[in-house]
Amino acid sequence: MVDAEYTGNIGNLFRKLGIHAGDPIELDVDGRRFACVVLPAHGLADMVRLRMPDGYIIGIEWQRIKNVRKLEASSRQVATANQPVPPAPTGPDVVLLATGGTIAGRPDPVTGGLVAGRGASELYALVPELAGLARLKMIDLFSVLSENMQPAHWVRIARAVLEAIDSGARGVVVSHGTDTLHYTASALSFMIQNPPVPIVLVGSQKSIDRPSSDAALNLIHAVQVASTSDIAEVVVTMFGPTSDQYGIIHRGTRVRKMHTSARSTFRTIGDVPLGLVDHNGIRMLRTDYARVGQTPPVQPRIGVCDRAALLYYHPGMSPEVIDFYAASKFRGLVMAGTGMGHCSDDVINGLKRAVDQGLQVFMTSQTLWGTTNPYAYQTGRRLIDAGVTFLANMLPETALAKLYWALSQTKDPESVTALMTQNIANEIVPREPPDGYLVYQGGIPEVAEFLRKERL
Ligand code: ASP
Repeated sequence: MVDAEYTGNIGNLFRKLGIHAGDPIELDVDGRRFACVVLPAHGLADMVRLRMPDGYIIGIEWQRIKNVRKLEASSRQVATANQPVPPAPTGPDVVLLATGGTIAGRPDPVTGGLVAGRGASELYALVPELAGLARLKMIDLFSVLSENMQPAHWVRIARAVLEAIDSGARGVVVSHGTDTLHYTASALSFMIQNPPVPIVLVGSQKSIDRPSSDAALNLIHAVQVASTSDIAEVVVTMFGPTSDQYGIIHRGTRVRKMHTSARSTFRTIGDVPLGLVDHNGIRMLRTDYARVGQTPPVQPRIGVCDRAALLYYHPGMSPEVIDFYAASKFRGLVMAGTGMGHCSDDVINGLKRAVDQGLQVFMTSQTLWGTTNPYAYQTGRRLIDAGVTFLANMLPETALAKLYWALSQTKDPESVTALMTQNIANEIVPREPPDGYLVYQGGIPEVAEFLRKERL
């Protein structure tokens, strides 16, 4: 367990005042008074680490601190990082399933690299604002970086989400690494059809104890969406524009990580996001979503079969790659083709051989925005003749998660194709709005605002 409590001068003062990691405090520094939350010491003695209300993390030397006052934690008892959190007495019931990732990360003292490691209760303890939003039940499912997450983990998450729904939860939050968050969001969208409540996936690009971490704000937004929104779908709620103004609520099958390190990394692709969330509440950007209280009975269709792969076509790709998958008795391939869904004549020949041997091949586009179209070029027509099925504008990763799921639902290839081409969880957008990728996603509105200010 992390060394949460401070030693030295700060430790003595905090002990006297009964202040522990996770407590909200008020203090005077350099003539200014502000409220913040104490973060665990991690061995610090002469400096205290604090999280400001906007989520920023700062460190302040002992000498600069004048007065310290412990603030009342909200209605709930705030746990220290070493204690389990008792459930709050009131508020909507929300289950938080922790699965690891940066949001639960801390540096490994041996390698210096970040490892997943904080449990759900510790996260809760570090973000006491959550107590005022919901009666949270924290469950540690497992703790992995999401690059280590496998389809079998998706099944465990899906089962835990269903249990939470069965137990009467008003919403479910899944904290998760960001690298593969969108695969899991897609998989859950197919495994839990017609969810009666919001299922909200959330992560962070910077761990909770790093300066300018997005972890606390993202968690708060996710719990807000789970506890108050009327969205009965699988969604991802993550940092919006660079300016911390709001979080974006993305549909689980249309979202993607688009930046390696920036906090504004998740974007709805080829569509307008579902909504925005900030400290004032939720603002929906569209009306065509499933609503709490109006869904048909939840339809659990849990399962995965990972005898499938996603291949990114590139110049120089050898058709032998395709032969390998056919010979190894894989059942399906998703191709991320160029442009409208193309690949070279050589690879098309390989795909035809593979289809003839029973491999099912589906085509998506590596451009991400826009739809595939097999009829614009001769290569597209050849792909159709080879037996490749085009998936309109389904995102490549969504298509892979869907294929894993579809292969687990039936052994019949025609039924697999039927499932793959049926629009189950809005994974296909019939009419992509031309400006969908700009709407409220930290794109043009911010530039417009900047230009407006510049002109004044
Ligand atoms: N590699 C990490 C993960 O996906 C990145 C993160 O969580 O932001 O678990």
